[in-house]
Amino acid sequence: MRPIPYSRHSIEQEDIAAVQEVLASDWLTTGPKVSEFEDAFAKFCGAREAVAVNSGTAALHAPMHSYGVGQGDEVIVPANTFAASANAVLYAGGTPIFADVQIDTGLIDLKDAESKITSRTKGIVAVDFAGQPCDYSELQHLTAKHGLFLHADACHALGASYKGKAAGALACTSSFSFHPVKPITTGEGGMITTDDSELAAAMRVFRNHGITTDFRQREKAQTWEYDMECLGWNYRLSDLQCALGISQLHRARRFFEARNRIANLYDEAFATIGWLQIPARRPDRTHAFHLYACRLAAGAPVTQREAFQRLRAKGIGAHVMYRPVYLHSYYQERLGASSTPCPNAETLYQTILVLPISAVMLESDASRVVEEVAALAL
Ligand SMILES: *Cc1c(COP(=O)(O)O)cnc(C)c1O
Repeated sequence: MRPIPYSRHSIEQEDIAAVQEVLASDWLTTGPKVSEFEDAFAKFCGAREAVAVNSGTAALHAPMHSYGVGQGDEVIVPANTFAASANAVLYAGGTPIFADVQIDTGLIDLKDAESKITSRTKGIVAVDFAGQPCDYSELQHLTAKHGLFLHADACHALGASYKGKAAGALACTSSFSFHPVKPITTGEGGMITTDDSELAAAMRVFRNHGITTDFRQREKAQTWEYDMECLGWNYRLSDLQCALGISQLHRARRFFEARNRIANLYDEAFATIGWLQIPARRPDRTHAFHLYACRLAAGAPVTQREAFQRLRAKGIGAHVMYRPVYLHSYYQERLGASSTPCPNAETLYQTILVLPISAVMLESDASRVVEEVAALAL
C-alpha cells in the first residue's frame, strides 16, 4: 500500500517552467521576481506590503527586530506551537512568555494571555494553529488596550479568513512559511505581510545584512556606495524560489479548497466515532487545514502512542504536535521555574492526533485513513 504522508507539496509542469525561466535569466537572486512575488502575495492577502525572506523563521525574526524587541522585553507566545514562534523572540534578545491555549482549537487563550501581561510586555505573537485564524477582534482590542504590538504567526493559515478578512491582513504584521508541508512552497521560504510601510522598509534592510540598498538598486543608480545601518542577516529569498512562489500562488485557492474537501470528508466520517473529537471550527472564520488535528477523547480504545504506531504501520502518516515549547530541554534550562505551566497545552499535546491532509491527497486516500482510524477500535 502506498504511504499517505501527513502533508505533501504539489509541483506541476508550470512550476518547473517558471523556475527554468529564471535559471536562463540574468538574476538568480535579488532580481525582478522578488518584488513580483511580494506584490502578488500582498494582493492575495489584502495587505499593502509583503516582504520575502528565506524561511518562516526569518519571517518571525524580522518583525521582532523591527518592533525593537530587546533585552528585558517580554513577548507572549502560545505554548502549543512550533519552537520557531518563540525562538524568534530570543533571537531578538527578548523573553518569550508562554500563554495557554483553548483545548478545542489550540488557539491562544486570551484570558490567560492577558493575565501574563506585565510592565515588560512588548507584544503578542498569535499562532493560527492548524490553519484556523485566532480571534483577531479580541486580540486587537487587548493589544490596543495595553499598547502592545500584535504579530500573527500565520504559517499554517494562508487562504483562511476571519470575519471576511484574509490571513495576512489580520494583525499589524503576519508571517508565512513556504516549507514543503505548508500551504504553498518555495522549498524553503517565508513572507511577512503588513500595511505599515515603515516596518516593511525596515524588514527589507534587516533581510539584507542591515544594508540600505540592494545590489540591483545600486546597479541601476550606478553607484558602489551603501550604508549598513543595523545588524541584519542574509535572509534573502532567491529569484528561483520567488518564481516558484508566484507559480504556486496561482494555485493557492485551489489548494485551500482541496484541503477543505478532505477535512469535510473526515468530519463527516468521524462524526460517528464517539472517541475521536474532530477539529473545532469557529463560525466567524474559515480554516486552511494545514493540519487536520483531532483529539482522542475519554474512552478511546487506544492510547495516543498506539494510535500513532498502528496508523504508521499501515502507511498512514499520523502525527503528534506540538510539544509545548517550554517543555523542551533548552527552554527548561533557560526559563527554569519562571515558566508557569499551561495545562490545556499539555493536555492537548497528550491527546492530539494529526491525520494526513494535503492538496494532492485523493478522496480514496482519505477513505483509507478513515478505515484505518475506525479499525483502531477493533
Ligand atoms: C513552519 C512554521 C514555522 C517556521 O517556518 P520555517 O519556514 O520552517 O522556518 C514557524 N511557525 C509555525 C507555526 C510553523 O508551522
